[in-house]
Amino acid sequence: MGKSSLLNKMFSGLNLKTGKISGFTDRGVHTTVTSVMIKVNPGTYIIDTPGIREIAPFGIMRQDLSYYFIEFSKFIKKCKFNTCTHSHEPGCAVYEAVQNGHISAERYESYLRILETIEEVSLL
Ligand SMILES: [Zn+2]
Repeated sequence: MGKSSLLNKMFSGLNLKTGKISGFTDRGVHTTVTSVMIKVNPGTYIIDTPGIREIAPFGIMRQDLSYYFIEFSKFIKKCKFNTCTHSHEPGCAVYEAVQNGHISAERYESYLRILETIEEVSLL
């Protein structure tokens, strides 16, 4: 089941378009082609997008992404380099914390996936 189908189940009356499940492959068809924001109740908004990878973390620089992962924060300052992106640098305290189980590997992988989508921006 896709995201739109799930949201329709959670919020009746939402009526997002969903794809028919193909009987041949049993895979849903991609039907969300543009991003939409819908207010479902006061204080709750849903943003439906074609796919999570399509969200460019707008305005976030590669070296700042880790600050959005709050459990990384106490390790970040122990990294050897203050420009550490925690992906490949030697002496990275975040990477070490993942190895020691202080940071969940799942969260770290999520961090790396988002990091990949942020292009290196030249500072000049
Ligand atoms: Zn690091």
